[in-house]
This record gives sequence, structure tokens and C-alpha cells, in this order.
Amino acid sequence: NTSSHDLKIADQKHHLHPFTEHGSLGVDDRRVISKADGVWLWDTDGNRIMDGMAGLWCVNVGHGRQEIVEAVRAQMSELSYYNTFFKTTHPPVIELSEMLAGIAPDNMNMVFYAGSGSEANDTILRLVRTYWALKGQPSKKTVISRKNAYHGSTVAGASLGGMGAMHSQGGLPIPDIHHIDQPYWFGEGMMTGMSEDEFGLWAARELDRAIEKIGEENVAAFIAEPIQGAGGVIVPPATYWPEVRRILESRDILFISDEVICGFGRTGEWFGSGYYDMKPDLMAIAKGLTSGYLPMGGVLVSDEIAEVLHREGVEFYHGYTYSGHPACCAAAIANLTIIKREGLVERVRDHIGPYFQTRWKSLQEHPLVGEARMVGLFGSLELVPDENDLMKRFDNVGKVGTITRDHSFANGLVMRAVRDSLIISPPLTITEDEVDHLVATARKTLDDAWGSLRT
Ligand code: PLP
Repeated sequence: NTSSHDLKIADQKHHLHPFTEHGSLGVDDRRVISKADGVWLWDTDGNRIMDGMAGLWCVNVGHGRQEIVEAVRAQMSELSYYNTFFKTTHPPVIELSEMLAGIAPDNMNMVFYAGSGSEANDTILRLVRTYWALKGQPSKKTVISRKNAYHGSTVAGASLGGMGAMHSQGGLPIPDIHHIDQPYWFGEGMMTGMSEDEFGLWAARELDRAIEKIGEENVAAFIAEPIQGAGGVIVPPATYWPEVRRILESRDILFISDEVICGFGRTGEWFGSGYYDMKPDLMAIAKGLTSGYLPMGGVLVSDEIAEVLHREGVEFYHGYTYSGHPACCAAAIANLTIIKREGLVERVRDHIGPYFQTRWKSLQEHPLVGEARMVGLFGSLELVPDENDLMKRFDNVGKVGTITRDHSFANGLVMRAVRDSLIISPPLTITEDEVDHLVATARKTLDDAWGSLRT
């Protein structure tokens, strides 16, 4: 039996982790996760840890669902792989596409498959430009995105994203991507002197100003997550999305909703755009599509876009070997069946969401917390140095967030640090008792961090 320590040594020797500062990652800093069930993880050192992040915001139905495992096993023994290029198709991809059309907004009935959220956004970038070229407007190429957005790690995904650290590596963004400000009230808006509603309107009108500057004839689309996830669970002011919607209705550009995190129940609606009553032309999906049991992404498109792609002689020169992989389709079908049968979306909207939100927001009383926010099961704690002056920030951005996250891990709860905030996004199946446990652990974590900042 390989010991936990041996595993960590081998990991250090041979495994390059994504988004990791390897130079400061010691052998014993590693956590080898070897088993999971429901909202719980176990590591090879014998610790039980609550998964407050649903993996990477993806395990919506919880870990260890044998129904998904069985569905994948059955599909693999029947048809483990075949492609969906040219004329070929297969039963699970047909069934899944029909299911997704039933879940998606009424004007969306077709789906293009990818292997991940990044590939979904790569597909989208090419697709929106192709769409406008086919409509005889090839100048409409620029995609407007937002600062601090995360849309994936491929060249197109990282370019669409608005993370400076990612742009500075590898010469990104690629041309014709334009980033506008994000509607981040706690982090930026509060300091402007505007009210929250005014700031929401101002941030929304950044879109209009960008369209004016670039020229509507050059703008293909606006891409946004309904609530930015990796950027820090940025819940926009109430005025933001209605104003963006008004602007989009007055402009001839496409709206792309990146639903990779917000989709499949996270906000208490099937899609985050539905939560805000937005009408996207395209949606990027991944993560909760299979609850992470197998990798899969996709792009849902409006009937208008589908119609252009069905014109005589039109071919979209794009596709992946694993577009519509049968085993991934089987995982997605079993996963969506669970979400529907157990009413998980409604559960988040009407029951466990409100239950969690009330308890989460009570953490705001802690002296280290400037704001505790949560929509659906999607929340953040903004940590501040002085609860009596919410404009003040820690000097060394990110340090207190990381320290607090490490306390959380040590206390048996996975939360993620984004700058000096802590993020929570648990499986949608979390019970009331587990919510109570999570909030109590978060409170203890804040006390521990508060204590260690004072010593
Ligand atoms: N879009 C959003 C909003 C995401 O949060 C992510 C991943 O976290 C992606 C796209 C990229 O998805 P993937 O990691 O599956 O490529």
C-alpha cells in the first residue's frame, strides 16, 4: 500500500498542478483526496472534509451518485466511443440534446458539444464571428467582455476572460476582444461616491459606451456570467441586468451568457440568465451539466443562429473528437434526471437556498467580515481590516484571504479564497444539518483567522 506521504512525494516529482505556485508548494502541503460521498471528502491522511466548493463549482448533485456511475458503465459497454462529425450521431447524444432543449429557454433548441467550459467559449468566439459573416456583416468581430471575468484557460477563453495575470502570460488577449468594468459594488462601486443603484446603472452603461467607441457595426457580442464566479461571486446591483437588457434590446449585437457556473440550479433557476430575466442568444454550459462526473461542455444557441447554420451550403468548420462523447452524454442524462427528479433547482430556490442565505448572512456580524452575500447556493464573505470602515482594505491583497482559507481547510471545510474574500458553492443536495455545520465551521475559521492576525 502506497503511504500518503509517498503519494505526495510522487505528486511533487511528476505532477504540474493548474493555477499553482509550485515553488512554494511543499510535499506536506498537498492534500490527496481519495474518496467522496455527498458533500464529504476524505483524504489519504484520514481526514473528513466538507466540500464547500462542490469540487470546482461543479458537483451539483453531490459526490458518489451510483446512478451516474451505472449509466456511464452501461453506455461504455454498449458504445464507449463514436464521433458526431459529418452524418454520424448516436442515441445518447440525441437524448441529451432533446433534454437540454427542454430545459433551455424557449428560443434555444440546439446544442453544439465540447469537452469543457473553455472549449465551449472557444466555440462561441468562432461561432458568433461566423454568424455575422454569414449574415453579410463580417466587420462585426469584436466581443465585449468584462474585467476580472473568467471564461476558461484556452487562448480564446483566457482572452475573453478579463484576468490581468492570465493576459500577461502568452501575449493575450488576442485581437478584437474588449474589456469593460465589472459591476463589483463592494470592491469598487462603494468607493466611487455613487449609490449602489447608480453604480449598477453606470457599470451597465459601460457596455453602451464601449459599443459607441468601437462602433456597433464592429461588435459581434457581449459575453458575461450572470454572477461572476471565479472573479469573486460578484452579485451585481439590482439595476445592472435590467439596464444591460435595455441596452442589448436597442443594439444589434448578440448576448452570450456564460452559464458554466451559474447553470443547472446554482442560483435557484436552471440558468443564471433566467434568474435575472435575461434573454441570451448563446449559452456556454459545462460543470453542472454532468456534475463533473465526466468532462463535458456545450453551447446552446438560439433558433435564429441555428437557422443561419442550416442554410444551404453553410458549414461551421469546427468540432472536437469528443464532441458529444457517448459516455459523457450518459453521465449528463443521468445527472439531469437526478436534478429533475429530486427537484434540486426548486429546492435551492424555495428551501435550502433561503435557509443557507439567512445563516450565511449572519456571519456579517463577525469583525473580520465586511459583507456576506449569497444568491441561491453561491456566496462570498468579504474580509476587511476594520468593520467600522468598509472602504479600508488589507495592505497585502490576498494574504488574509489565503490565511483564512487555510484555517478553513484545517477545520475541515473547503472554501476558496479570491483576493481577500472567501467563496462558497456547495453541492445543491446539502442538508440543513450540513448547512449548520458549514456555517459553524466558517465562524470558527473566522475566529481563528482573527486570532492569528492579532498575534
Ligand atoms: N466559464 C466559467 C464562468 C468558468 O467558471 C469556467 C471554469 O471555472 C470556465 C468557463 C472554463 O471551464 P473549464 O474549466 O471546464 O474549461
